[in-house]
This record gives sequence, C-alpha cells and structure tokens, in this order.
Amino acid sequence: MHASLEKLRKFFRLEAENKYANTAVIGGLAKILDFWEAEARNEGLSEDLIQLVASRLRDYQRLTPTSRADTLKGVWKRIQGQIPDAGMPIPVYSENQSTQTTASPAVTPSTPVEERQAPKPKPENNEPRPAQQPRQERKPTPARASSYPGAQTSQTPVALNANLTVLQGVGPKNASSLEKMGMFTLADMLYYFPRRYDDYSQLQPIRSLMYGQVVTVIGQIQSVINRPVRGGKMQIVEVIISDGTGALRINWFNQPWLMNRLSEGMNIAVAGTIEQYLGRLVLNSPDWEPIETEHLHTNRIVPIYPLTANITQKWLRQLMDQVIKFWAPRLPDPLPESIKTSAGLQSLGEAIHQAHFPDSQKALSEARERLAFDEIFYLQMGVLRQKRDWQSVVGRIFDVPEEWLGERIEALPFTLTGAQKRTVDDVCVDVGSGRPMNRLIQGDVGSGKTVVAALAAMMITRNGAQAAIMAPTSILAEQHLRNFSSLMTGDGLLQEDQVRLLTGDTSAGDRASIQEGLASGHVKVLIGTHALIEDPVVFKDLQLTIIDEQHRFGVDQRAALRAKGTNPHLLVMTATPIPRSLALTLYGDLDISVMDEMPAGREPVATHVIKPQERERGYSLISSQIEAGHQAFIVYPLIEESEKLESVKAAVDDHERLSREIFPKLKLGLLHGKMKPDEKDCIMTDFRDKKYDILVSTTVIEVGVDVPNATVMLIEGANRFGLAQLHQLRGRVGRGGGESFCLLVPDHADAAENARLQAMTETNDGFKLAELDLKQRGPGEFLGTRQSGYATNLKMASLTDVSLIEKARNHAQKMFEIDAELKAPEHALLSEALERFWGRSGDVS
Ligand code: ADP
Ligand code: MG
Repeated sequence: MHASLEKLRKFFRLEAENKYANTAVIGGLAKILDFWEAEARNEGLSEDLIQLVASRLRDYQRLTPTSRADTLKGVWKRIQGQIPDAGMPIPVYSENQSTQTTASPAVTPSTPVEERQAPKPKPENNEPRPAQQPRQERKPTPARASSYPGAQTSQTPVALNANLTVLQGVGPKNASSLEKMGMFTLADMLYYFPRRYDDYSQLQPIRSLMYGQVVTVIGQIQSVINRPVRGGKMQIVEVIISDGTGALRINWFNQPWLMNRLSEGMNIAVAGTIEQYLGRLVLNSPDWEPIETEHLHTNRIVPIYPLTANITQKWLRQLMDQVIKFWAPRLPDPLPESIKTSAGLQSLGEAIHQAHFPDSQKALSEARERLAFDEIFYLQMGVLRQKRDWQSVVGRIFDVPEEWLGERIEALPFTLTGAQKRTVDDVCVDVGSGRPMNRLIQGDVGSGKTVVAALAAMMITRNGAQAAIMAPTSILAEQHLRNFSSLMTGDGLLQEDQVRLLTGDTSAGDRASIQEGLASGHVKVLIGTHALIEDPVVFKDLQLTIIDEQHRFGVDQRAALRAKGTNPHLLVMTATPIPRSLALTLYGDLDISVMDEMPAGREPVATHVIKPQERERGYSLISSQIEAGHQAFIVYPLIEESEKLESVKAAVDDHERLSREIFPKLKLGLLHGKMKPDEKDCIMTDFRDKKYDILVSTTVIEVGVDVPNATVMLIEGANRFGLAQLHQLRGRVGRGGGESFCLLVPDHADAAENARLQAMTETNDGFKLAELDLKQRGPGEFLGTRQSGYATNLKMASLTDVSLIEKARNHAQKMFEIDAELKAPEHALLSEALERFWGRSGDVS
C-alpha cells in the first residue's frame, strides 16, 4: 500500500482519537500537506484524490469537530473507493453523536461532505421531477405503522400511509433502499431528519470571494471545456462563470456527463468551499443547479441526511423536498392550540418543514424545540397514565410490625445507613398501602441496595407469600443468593431449601424440585437470571418482584416477571445516578427512593488522572497492590457499537502485550463483549476467586459484582467516557474496605479534557458527577438508560436542554390534571397520537 496513504491514515486516526481537536499535527492537520502532496504524487495517486485531500485539509481548521469527523471519514471513504486496500476505516467517536440530529439504527453512517462531490451514477428512474402531488393511481397500501409522535392520527391523510413507490422517481429498488433507512411510508419520511446541515445561506458576489469561504455564487456560464489530464486517465470539466463583478473557475473531476448538462449562457448557482489553485480562486466539484429551478441545494441551509450506499444526498434531498413541501402544511397537529401558545411552540407542520429545510438557524432551533417537546410530552403523558393505572388496582396488604423489623435490622452484620433506613421505611409504607408498590431504588454502586431488597423480601415471606429476584447475569444472581440466604435463613427464619437459584446452568433435577417447591409454596424466594421468565415456573403466590440493574432488562422481560403474580409489589433497582430533573421525567410513574449515602467506613476510591506517557507509574502501582495480595482491573473504552471490534482488539492486543512485557510474572485474565455470556461469567468468577491477578477488560465488567479484593482500576481512554460512566466503573473497586485506587489515563494530555476528568478526583458522589455530565454533555446519555422501547423515540429530546424537558413535563402534568383520559373533543387527536407513541411498549417499569 502507498506510504502516503499509510501516513494519512495514521494522522486521521490520531485526530479521531483526539476528538477532532485538530491536534494530531502540530500547527494543524493542514501542515502535513507541506510534504504529503508531493509524496502522494510521486506514488502515483490520482490527481483528484490529491486535490480532494488537499482541499479538505486546508478547510479543516475552520470546521466544527462534527464536520471534521465527517470530513475525514468522507475523505477516507473516497480513498477506499479508489484504492480498496487503503485499510480500515477510521473510527468515529461518540462525541459527534450529540450534535447529530438523528441516525436511525438501520442507517449506516455515510459521507455527507463527500456526497456532494462524489461523482455518482444517476439513481434508477432518474431524479424525481418536483411533482407536487404523489401519483395516486396506485392504491395506497399501509406499509408499516409509523412509530413517531404526531405522525399519524385519524385526520392524517391516508395517502401518508402510502408506500414510497407512489413517488415519482422511486421504483422498487429505491424503495427498498429507503426501507433500509427506516422509511416505509411518506409519513416516515417526514420524521427522517437530517443529521446535520450545511449553511449556504449567504450569497456572494464573485469579486468579494475569499479563500476558504463556504459560499453560494450565481453566475452565467462563459465557457465549458472537458480537459483530459494525466494521459487521459482523468477528465476535468472546467467551467468559467461570471456575475458581472468577476469570473470564477469551477472544476468537476471525472464527471464528463456534465458536458451534456452545462452550456454557455446558462445561469447556474454553485455552492461549495472556495479553494485556491495556482494562485487563483476556484470551486472544486461544487453542488450546482440551474437557477431557473428553486435553490434546493444552494443559497440556503442545506440538509444532510444519513444515507445508505445506493442513494445520493442530492436525490434524497429532492425527494424530501417534494414530500415535505406538499405534506408538511397538510399535517394535522395533535397538540392543542392552548399548549402551543403558552409554551411558545410552532405548529407541527412548520416544525417538520423547518427541521428539513430551515429558513435560518433560528428557525431550525425552534423546530427542534417543538419536536423535542412532543417527545417528552408524549413520554410524560404515558408515564402519568401508567402511574394512575397501577394505582387503581389492589395490592395485597403486608403488615410490618415495628418490633419485628427492628429485630431483623438488629440482626444485620452492620448498621444501616440513614438512606437505607429511609428506603426500608418507604417500602414498609408501600407494601401496607393496599396498592401495589412500584418503587425505584436509585443508589450509587455500593450504597447497599441488596440488603434493602432482602428486607423487603422478608416482609413478604413472613406472611407466607413468595418473592422473585431477577438479575442480569448468573454471577450476580449467585451473589444475591449468598446474600439473601445468609440474611433470610436460619433459626426462626426460612430453611435453606426455601431460597433457591434458577439460572441457565441449573440442572434438570434442581429445576424440577424448584418448580415443585414454587407450585406448592414451599420455596419462598426465587433468585435468578432471565431464566426466571423463560422457564415454565409457576408460583403459588408471588407477591413481590425485584429487578436488579433494571436498565439491563427490556420492557417485556420486566412485564413478564410481573405477570407471574397478580398485581405483585414491584421493586426495581438501579445504580445509574440520574439527575433529579430527568429522573422525574423518565421515571415519573415510579416512586423513587434515592440512596445517597455510603455505608460508614468506606473509603473513597483515590482517583488520579495520569498522562499517557506516565502510564508506567500506573503499572507500578498495580504491581505493588498485587504484591500486597490484591487484584487489579485494566479497562478499555467502548463507546459505540461500531467500535466494538476496535475496543475488543485493544483489549486483546494489550492483554498480550501486558502479559509479555509488563507483568510477565502475573496471571492476566481477559474479558470482552465478543465472548458468550457464560464465558464472561466464567472469567468473572475466576477473577473473583483470585485465579487472576489482573483482569483486562472492555467495559463489560459486570455492574454490581463484588470483588472485594480488587483495589485498583486503570481506565484507558478515560476522556471518552461520561463522568457518571467512569464513576460506575470505579465502583468495581474499593468494595472490601481499605485503600483503593482508580487511575484515569486519557488518550492525550489535552488540558481542557483533563480538567473535566479532574472532577473525578474531587468527588465520589455519583449524583454530583451525573449533574456535571448533564451540564457538559446534555441529557442524551441519560435518556437512553431506561431502555424501554420508547427511548428510541427520543430523537430530538437528546439534543435539547433540561429546561425544555421540564417545560414539556409541566405541560403534560397540567394536561393530565385537566383531562387525563383525553376525552374532550379538542384532545381527540392528541389521544390518538399518544396511543401511537406508546402503542408498541406496554409496561414501562
Ligand atoms: P449496591 O447498592 O451496589 O447493590 P450492595 O448491596 O452490593 O451495593 O452492597 C455493597 C456492599 O456493602 C456489600 O458487601 C454489603 O454487604 C455492604 N453493605 C451494605 N450496607 C451496608 C452498611 N449499612 N454498612 C456496611 N456495609 C454495608
Ligand atoms: Mg447491586
């Protein structure tokens, strides 16, 4: 492979790792052009590729990190297109996600910047004519229910349900590409938002153009020539346009068909970045169109959509324009006028229109606000409904005599913290209320949620009823079994065989005896993994279900466990410290007990940020801890699914390197996400049982697993994590009392980034760190944590601020007080939209 490309790739990678801060090369990425262009030319790289790289890198400094990421990715993709052995794609880090509008999971991230320049064969059936109305002769067949809020109500024109083939220029082939992107119907298109925008809204006279500007220019074509270069290997279509103030040269590389479409005297608009060639200003491969047609791609803020391979940006944009222009104004708005007025919101149609083709940056942000409001509003309405629903059914009353509870607490091997006591009291009240308990215990790792859960189980079993506890992995389930058994069995308590474990590994014989015991009522407590819901277990009288690490389970799984009893009490536990403002929105249907206090005597994990070049210091701390008989974690980041392989590779490679070079005398275990669940469980168990000194791992190390002997954790790539996430990881150490350490190693020694990490050294309070995350990174990270079907509907909300979320919540609450059932005629549409939003997800616990 070409050395010049190898170098380029290295720099791109480094830059990606530096989060596109333009720090990969001293003086900025453009500096490499000093030597690179010549080297690339020597190696025989094509001129258009060289020009492309040169022009992109020259612009690089002016771009936002998001655009930089797109640019580098795009450039590399172009290179790969021409030179297939150019190597792996460069990684993209999640930082960019927060600024993207939407990327439907089905969509492969594409090369938005380059799409504009890339010479592409025309899509089938040519480009859509800007037909105002989709052809109607084909009967609209409902293709698939759209899941987006407000997209559909009884007043939504049926035509919006039509398959995309009703559009001119969309045949079965294009339709199937669009389906891969999540668009089945016209309605889906309305909610397929751009991932970013290019702002071409400033039109410029040619005389005032300056190098580096992103501009739209209108001019008349003075000349068009097609020039073969490099011995005929390549062709340049060279056009000169003039607007009376000056002339500008435009080059299109390898798009000879343009000769048939451009002619002298024609007026065109071109949009792109002004570059320099031999001292003259030029535009290379700009977007263009004849100015008789509307300036779809130019002279405005241009939407850039996430794409799949077979579809071009320009084609999709034109299709979108056709659909949006016609349908957005015809879209009924389910949100009542009164709410729009008092919340200061645009109409739905306007918001959809502006989200696709914004008139200005301000209009765009107003559109986003409206759409995000919808998401939170519907979410909240549903959550409130759910709360009302469970409050309307009867739950068995369990009396908890104070004296009995006092004794149980007295018998514990430690004194409860104030937070634990308060939470136990909350649970007492709940189970005695006559309504099913529906409580979330939110407590930092190590805050002692398990013992509270065990006390709750005792309140139930002392009256002869049964309790089930579901944990995400068998190692956690086993840990719970040990804890519950030691707390719940003994003299005057349950017998050993009344507290049982059910996982995938449980033998057939044990299974049979467990099933029998549950049916007869002898087994009082069943602890296990999802085997609890997969197995045909039948309880005699299940009155309490407990779900640990609730975010690890889907809606259906939680509902399935609950369905094993009749309106049983429910306790869910999470260690994710969600800021209060968001917790109310996401968990508004649950009562929340916050355990914000650590058991006494627990020493905070001493946390240090160390520079990458000081890693050795970290290794020597690890060595000395291991010499003292302890164990260590070394963790590698995994931010996105797409990086899974990279991260696994990092862990695998480093496991090898560390074993060989750094810790040749120690035993190193390896754990990563590509392993099967029981393989992971096995490694984790071996580590707990001290068969390894060091566990090298991606972030899959199990939340909640106690390895009291582990006293030090080194986290590589720490800058890529949210603080709350780092805090969760850090919670794996320091569980045994005594000194413990967490070493954060960022990818680079960048000062600003490390200042953020510094907060980790200052506090051990997960909630404080979560609040900081919320300020620095926005709510996106938290909105996904509930993982209950609807989280995927929160596309816009993750881009907004907390005050908007609160505004939407308040309005939903008010609406719920006025008309909970949405029975009023003016709320009919809202009611339908709400059903739609929640249609697919029933239980939300
Ligand atoms: P988490 O909230 O993360 O699930 P656990 O329930 O696993 O935390 O508790 C972590 C450790 O703290 C366990 O070893 C548990 O026995 C211990 N623990 C719980 N409560 C107390 C307490 N009040 N005082 C001392 N140790 C406690
Ligand atoms: Mg736990």
